[in-house]
Amino acid sequence: MAKTETKNIDLQQSIEIPKKIPLLPIRDIVVFPYMVLPLFVGRETSIKAIEVALEGNRMIFLTSQKDINVENPSPSDLYTVGTVGVIMRMLKLPDGRIKILVQGGAGAKTVKFLQKEPFYQVEIKTYPDAATAINLETEALMRNVKEQIEKLVSFGKVILPDIMVVIENVDDPGKLADLAVANMGLKVEQAQEILEIADPVARIKRINEALGKEIELLSMQQKIQADVRGEIDKTQREYFLREQLKAIQRELGETDDRSEDMRELRDKIKEAKMPEKAAKEAEKQLRRLERMHPDAAEASMTRTYIEWLAELPWSKATKDNLDLKAAHKILEEDHYDLEKVKERILEYLAVRKLKEKMKGPILCFVGPPGVGKTSLGKSIARSLGREFVRISLGGVRDEAEIRGHRRTYVGALPGRIIQGIKTAGYNNPVFMLDEIDKIGADFRGDPSAALLEVLDPEQNNSFSDHYIGLPFDLSRVMFITTANMTDPIPGPLKDRMEIIRLSGYTEQEKLGIAKSYLVPRQLTEHGITEKNISIPDKPLLQVIAQYTREAGVRNLEREIAHLCRKVARKIAEGATGMFTITSANLHTYLGVPKFMPEVEREQDEIGVVTGLAWTETGGDILYIEATTMRGKGALTLTGHLGDVMKESAHAALTYVRSRAEKLGIPPDVFGKTDVHIHVPAGAIPKDGPSAGVTMATALASVFTNAPVRRDIAMTGEVTLRGRVMPIGGLKEKTLAARRAGINTIILPKENEKDLDDIPKNVRQNMKFIFAETMDEVIANALRKKLPRRIAHKRLPGRSRATH
Ligand code: ADP
Repeated sequence: MAKTETKNIDLQQSIEIPKKIPLLPIRDIVVFPYMVLPLFVGRETSIKAIEVALEGNRMIFLTSQKDINVENPSPSDLYTVGTVGVIMRMLKLPDGRIKILVQGGAGAKTVKFLQKEPFYQVEIKTYPDAATAINLETEALMRNVKEQIEKLVSFGKVILPDIMVVIENVDDPGKLADLAVANMGLKVEQAQEILEIADPVARIKRINEALGKEIELLSMQQKIQADVRGEIDKTQREYFLREQLKAIQRELGETDDRSEDMRELRDKIKEAKMPEKAAKEAEKQLRRLERMHPDAAEASMTRTYIEWLAELPWSKATKDNLDLKAAHKILEEDHYDLEKVKERILEYLAVRKLKEKMKGPILCFVGPPGVGKTSLGKSIARSLGREFVRISLGGVRDEAEIRGHRRTYVGALPGRIIQGIKTAGYNNPVFMLDEIDKIGADFRGDPSAALLEVLDPEQNNSFSDHYIGLPFDLSRVMFITTANMTDPIPGPLKDRMEIIRLSGYTEQEKLGIAKSYLVPRQLTEHGITEKNISIPDKPLLQVIAQYTREAGVRNLEREIAHLCRKVARKIAEGATGMFTITSANLHTYLGVPKFMPEVEREQDEIGVVTGLAWTETGGDILYIEATTMRGKGALTLTGHLGDVMKESAHAALTYVRSRAEKLGIPPDVFGKTDVHIHVPAGAIPKDGPSAGVTMATALASVFTNAPVRRDIAMTGEVTLRGRVMPIGGLKEKTLAARRAGINTIILPKENEKDLDDIPKNVRQNMKFIFAETMDEVIANALRKKLPRRIAHKRLPGRSRATH
């Protein structure tokens, strides 16, 4: 931009401006009054115009070109409004051009082009001398403009101090406008627009606006620059600080934390002795991690993953030390009785010993809670010298719980199998999968399919967990599963397993277990000895009968712990001597008995039969009630019965109807009677076919008016022809009957062979009736028919039995 200076000559007043004047087209700038600027002139026509002007009164009309690229502008290429200037000095340059110094004078407008050759000569009309009266608004405007110019300077705009002084002191709006605009460095079009405003006040208003915009622009620009600088400063600062920190750590002989960390991880990976593929993956992830910012979310995810890889026992195994004699000893040490089970386990171990990579079946311990399934697993691990881990599959419905979540999930983790292996710390633990009968399948995938892969010796040498994403060899793991019932175990899983049943314990067995295992164990756990406490058989049996009701011994162990705790506290408080538990003082330790022996039903009743059920927690007795009322032959079943049980009720009714004549029931009764069978407790779901004989007996009783013997319990499936079919859970059911004080049991003939399962001492006190047909059952269970009248009187009065 051309430098400008101002001289205080007022052209408008001192010099007469001629009407006819040479014109000098200028490019790239608009000349304003009071502006002094040098111009370089090269164009032939322009030089001519200057020469002519210099010959006369040195005045020349300066107008801007609309387009600076036009070499020889025609009149239409020029703005009409311009400024009359006085050439103050002229210098011829060696290259033929001339340099002039001009000062802007009055603004004027081209009226007419008088000549175009050899230079432009025009007739002009100057703007009328507008001596404006300065009112309040103009004054305010002027002040504003002055302030804005100062602000502009403070934002870094270069305006010479001399000019600033002039601007500060000027009091004519037109003059201030011209001075301001001359120094603002506006674009040609903008400047021209302002020049064309004749009214000085309007002009200054326009300039005020332009200044405001300019200031805003500059402040924005400054802010952007400041931000950018701030950003750069911050990263540079951090970089320098980090470098300094490193230098300081080096000086102090400390190593950089991160690289130390990475080294540790790398060592861990090496130590894990992974298979090649896994090692490569771990190394790759580690390199990725090194490149990441340590605080990035992904870095911690990657890190966790690498740690998982490094901590899995890829090649760490315990050495099997299988000595069958020792194993036998350990099993005996830990468990009372269970001879068959122990034998089977020893056989299993023996085969394993002979055949290292045995692809044999997987053991599945089935039985009620607290019968020692877990502790058998532990003993197996102990006798093999292996680690023991246990996971529960109860309620697992999601495949991801077995197999893990893919790493893309937030908070993803490996599945329970891999977690178990990590906990074990070795790749060949005894791995117990508890409650395999409690897994379910739903929309989240079928966990049993994943389990199948885990348990299949053909596939499990390359088990793939979604999180780990690499095959892991599970073939050396010894899996053992447990379940309460076999029925709910998915078929394909059951096929792979060898079921070993553990039934509930009799009172005598429980006593044995308590004396030789539970009591000594609880004594040591509570820090007391046999010198402090004595629990004779009688009170112990009382604990079994009155404080627990279970097939296993879990609660029994808890109650014994309770006794020990009480005594331990007394000793800790300073008491000495021996505490003997007796029947009389038992309740002071354990509180009032929780269970009383079953109250026998007071009398034989019509339509109420004692059945025996096999439940998850062992055996139980079940009072099945039937009653009739006038109706149309409908059968109602209540008590939360499953489909199988409902069907067997229908079968029982059909059987009774088909035998009506033989039983002495008038054949037309069925069409006029509705039957209702109810199985308490109504809220507990029940299923299975083994209540068939019981329901048939109840029906036979109500239709014949013969009371059922209350001292008999029964179990068995019934066919339409009245054949009695075998059932399971004989031992559990027998024990349940015994607990209920019933000594005679009707059983299917085909179950006779299973009597061996029942301990001798139990068998000796019981009477078993083996029935092949329903007729035999009825013959044994029903008393003599009562006359109809009496029967109906007795029915409403009977007390409802509980169990
Ligand atoms: P489960 O896994 O079948 O539910 P646990 O193995 O947890 O049962 O057994 C519960 C407790 O009873 C354990 O402390 C266990 O040692 C003990 N126990 C069960 N059966 C026997 C037994 N036959 N001999 C010795 N202790 C037993």
